[in-house]
Amino acid sequence: MFNSYGSGYSQSGSWQAQKDATSAQASAREAKTETELLRHDLDRVLMITEALWTLLKKEHGYADEVLANTVREIDLRDGRLDGRAQPPKAQPCPKCGRMNSAKLPRCLYCGEELEVKLFGDQPLPPDAAPETGPAS
Ligand SMILES: [Zn+2]
Repeated sequence: MFNSYGSGYSQSGSWQAQKDATSAQASAREAKTETELLRHDLDRVLMITEALWTLLKKEHGYADEVLANTVREIDLRDGRLDGRAQPPKAQPCPKCGRMNSAKLPRCLYCGEELEVKLFGDQPLPPDAAPETGPAS
């Protein structure tokens, strides 16, 4: 165990400090691992997104400008051009009326099926729908 010869701390105070430091190191390692996993997931999502966009351009003739404009429209849904999408809001249950997270498929209180909102509160604008894109 950690030795505290010559220090101004008592034996038990030093032991507690060492225990706290070890615990903090473990928490830091865990946070670093979690961050690395998230970064890996994000890299993969970005790669898949790029692959999908590349397919849309190649197979359906979309221009990069169309994607940029659609991203801008989605960004502006909350009235702010801040590079962030509007987070889905809580929704009332159609059966019991209690509020539920938009991420839940069923009411937390009564189990009623809730409306699924994949990308926030608003549907995609009509001009972002594939059938209005350039024909291939
Ligand atoms: Zn309910």
